[in-house]
Amino acid sequence: MRVLLVEDEPEMVSALRDALRRHQILLDHTANLYEAEAMASSSSFDIIILDRQLPDGDGLGLVPKLRAKKNPVPVLVLTARGDIADRVEGLDYGSDDYLTKPFAIEELLARLRALARRGGDLQSDIVKAGRLSFDFGKRDARVDGVSLDLTRREILVLEALLRNFGRMVPRNSLMESVFSMDDEVQPNALDLQVSRLRRKLSAATSGLAVNVVRGVGYLLQEDL
Ligand code: CA
Repeated sequence: MRVLLVEDEPEMVSALRDALRRHQILLDHTANLYEAEAMASSSSFDIIILDRQLPDGDGLGLVPKLRAKKNPVPVLVLTARGDIADRVEGLDYGSDDYLTKPFAIEELLARLRALARRGGDLQSDIVKAGRLSFDFGKRDARVDGVSLDLTRREILVLEALLRNFGRMVPRNSLMESVFSMDDEVQPNALDLQVSRLRRKLSAATSGLAVNVVRGVGYLLQEDL
């Protein structure tokens, strides 16, 4: 899962960065609306976490701009203001959910999972494919009850492929799911991650194969 955080309070940014990283969620960050709009247009995010009181205006102003560009990305609004009128206003602007500061990280994570489900085809947190079951909440992949030892990046690759199970995932789109804008990425970095994941899936007899269409994309399929 890849998240864009639009927030200007350094303590909040660092707390969220740590928490999301621990949960293998890829994070890009900006502290202002102007940059947020540019980032949301140039990259695809699974969710935007949006503060309201930002240096260049009310965060809510971003949402109609996204929708006008037919960008359906779910938006979770974070704010210190939590009365009913503010919540209604946030939803009227086209945001998808609302969380009042201070909040528990666990609640934020649960809401992110719910929003990601709504945005994709996933009906539950646990998906089965081949002999593998993947828990999107715990970021845990298992075969016959045994947890696979996957790195953070391998989990990001697997997650993106599972969300598109049986469908081709274009190379650029997979890159965006696995590396944030701040990551320094070598030209073959994605292929390395994919080939490591493929080896681990095969060694675990997961019944899954990652097929590569060179230069085009990747496809996760059953291989029982
Ligand atoms: Ca703020």
